[in-house]
Amino acid sequence: MTIMTPPLDDPLLLTPGPLTTSAETKRAALRDLGSWDADFIALTADIRDRLLAIAGATGSHVCVPVQGSGTFAVEAALGTLVARDGKALVLVNGAYGARIARTFERMGRDHAVHETDEVTPPDPAEVAARLARDPAISHVAAVHCETTTGLLNPIEQIAEAVAGQGRRLIIDAMSSFGALPLDARRIPYEALVCCANKCLEGIPGLGFAIIRREALAACEGNAHSLSLDLHDQWRELERSGRWRFSPPTHVAAALARALDQFEAEGGIAARGRRYAENYRVLVTGMRGLGFQPLLPEAVQAPIIVSFRTPDDPRFDFDRFYGALKRRGFIIYPGKLTRAETFRIACIGHLFPGDMARAVEAVGAAIDEIGLRVRTAATA
Ligand SMILES: *Cc1c(COP(=O)(O)O)cnc(C)c1O
Repeated sequence: MTIMTPPLDDPLLLTPGPLTTSAETKRAALRDLGSWDADFIALTADIRDRLLAIAGATGSHVCVPVQGSGTFAVEAALGTLVARDGKALVLVNGAYGARIARTFERMGRDHAVHETDEVTPPDPAEVAARLARDPAISHVAAVHCETTTGLLNPIEQIAEAVAGQGRRLIIDAMSSFGALPLDARRIPYEALVCCANKCLEGIPGLGFAIIRREALAACEGNAHSLSLDLHDQWRELERSGRWRFSPPTHVAAALARALDQFEAEGGIAARGRRYAENYRVLVTGMRGLGFQPLLPEAVQAPIIVSFRTPDDPRFDFDRFYGALKRRGFIIYPGKLTRAETFRIACIGHLFPGDMARAVEAVGAAIDEIGLRVRTAATA
């Protein structure tokens, strides 16, 4: 009998999900679990409890997992929680905020957009004023770390502004949960949405929402979709311990193992410290090579960094990407409407030594291409 071991020489993913996972997490997926079997029911209950504990939401909230990528979980939360005659205010300063607005549009739910520049967080006082002017708004939807740029939105102050106006907050915490503090005992929110394959370092295929229990209990019949109805998913989990429809059993098994490693590392504080150190090594090294981050440090999360592309006509992202891939690193193109950028993430099963090697690879790649790195900001 031969046993397939996962290839461990894949390039490292310097991307914000799917990201590089540990061999242990990948190996945990090599099981076939019956979706109705007691073992899987116990595994599901265990994951749900542990995610609530990480959120500081045990007792006040419930954790509802859903099949699919993070966007599926966001759409499920929006469609389940905002009543059909409700209205949402969406805070937009990047592609993920814009995606939330587009989701409401597709669902046919009334919404307004409060948009700021891609490098500018919303002003909580302006959000409060807007809510005061429009009593029809029931919910505010906001992105914690806007992965488009790596910008950290001031979620605590936004939560205070929203609660102060008696409205409800839905947080897309996809690229921050597990690495940046977001404790439900301190930050009032109705729901937080995340997935397995970002800072929790699981493999992709499931998302989840942490939802205030009384709020979810009142949401029967809201959802625009059968498969994305988190109220019904929750009721079934409470009744039988089972997911509705085939669950991603392998992904759930890998997530449980990823949570073991998360807890062993020291939880949110320790993971946040590792990513912050990854970030420091990355940015210091890239600045040394002449690259400039797009964002001012004051609004930059230690999750993903947008760098301005070199001000050299020979710069070609695909060539740069290929030169880095041959050296063992996968990066991300920019996702901005205005500035030319590329992105390098600091999250995943990556350590400061990996980031130092990534910076060396960037240096070798620019030599290979013959680039003159004098980015727009310094030119
Ligand atoms: C990754 C991410 C999502 C979900 O994207 P998917 O491609 O569906 O996984 C949503 N919001 C933010 C802020 C993200 O970083």
